Amino acid sequence: MTYITFLEILTINFTLQKFIIMKKHNFYAGPSILPQYTIDKTIEGIKDFAGTGLSVLEISHRSKEFVEVMENAQKLFKELLNIPDDYAVLFLQGGASTQFAMIPFNLLNKKAAYLDTGAWSSKAIKEAQGFGEVEIVASSKDNAYNYIPKNFEVPVDVDYFHITTNNTIAGTEIKNDFDVPVPLVADMSSDIFSRPIDVTKYALIYGGAQKNLGPAGATFVIIKKDILGKVDRHIPTMLKYQTHIDKGSMFNTPPALAVFSALQTLKWLKNNGGVEAAQKRNIEKAQILYDEIDRNKLFKAAVPNPDDRSLMNITFVMNEAYKPHEQAFLDFAAQRGIVGIKGHRSVGGFRASTYNALPKESVETLVKAMQDFEKQVS
Ligand SMILES: *Cc1c(COP(=O)(O)O)cnc(C)c1O
Repeated sequence: MTYITFLEILTINFTLQKFIIMKKHNFYAGPSILPQYTIDKTIEGIKDFAGTGLSVLEISHRSKEFVEVMENAQKLFKELLNIPDDYAVLFLQGGASTQFAMIPFNLLNKKAAYLDTGAWSSKAIKEAQGFGEVEIVASSKDNAYNYIPKNFEVPVDVDYFHITTNNTIAGTEIKNDFDVPVPLVADMSSDIFSRPIDVTKYALIYGGAQKNLGPAGATFVIIKKDILGKVDRHIPTMLKYQTHIDKGSMFNTPPALAVFSALQTLKWLKNNGGVEAAQKRNIEKAQILYDEIDRNKLFKAAVPNPDDRSLMNITFVMNEAYKPHEQAFLDFAAQRGIVGIKGHRSVGGFRASTYNALPKESVETLVKAMQDFEKQVS
């Protein structure tokens, strides 16, 4: 019979702990990495919110402390993106997916135009078709959405034109704000706050918070107030933008914790140089990874045209000859704490999401793993 000594128990315990707290490199597409600041401040707020002795989870949304959170979140949102006063910032529920219907419900009289750049665009199109005529001005579906269509023409007789600026699944991105002769509506779920945007070029910008902003549960909408009131149909109270504009996103109980957390991310972003600095860091991180994908003989980028490649969701696959090594690479990366790089089931391969909160060090760790795996395989 053998006995484990006290010292051995300590050693085993220590090894286990080290294993449990191994640094993770979080490349998930959403929900996804948030700044440590956001996590820490959220924990604080859950324990004792603004010195109230109550948790942010259990305080009235009408309390002056929470009203301040909502107001500050909207204020900082406007400040960081330079949003003019004729726009409102809303925090709603139901995700970007509910916006797919809420947008045509509120804005589509007769006809709307959509750019079809991916799975999310096509879901938005499907919802809009229930409210009127939808013209798809261009689509990249013919090539598994691996590019952004160019040289399309937006008809002038539409109520709005809808785009998805960052295609989270395919890994393409529209990185500039363009001029169109009709109200422009953009799903920016996965690239909001990743770069400066000229909000005046848009009538409405929306997205789920759970990619670059906060935990799941809040949906942000930036809306130009004067685009409303032009459709005749009855709109249920909760699905009417005007309801939420009139009440400052406090018509009913808002997603309080999600807004509280999002506010922490906005503070973090401001303390770290705002969207201009974020864009610089994002370009640098993406460049490091795309360079390695292009160099490494095992891999190839899912999006061939560098201009169309997303800075937020970097999609890549294994070259035909190395395809059988896909799972082995995932396991190899996992041993180094790299999580969330398995590609979306519709694209396969890999997807590394490099949102604002992802440190450069995580990208470098992934690049090193790709290099070491290449040596191991060849
Ligand atoms: C994640 C995502 C959505 C869906 O968001 P939900 O909040 O889950 O409804 C829509 N559009 C884009 C571009 C996304 O990345």
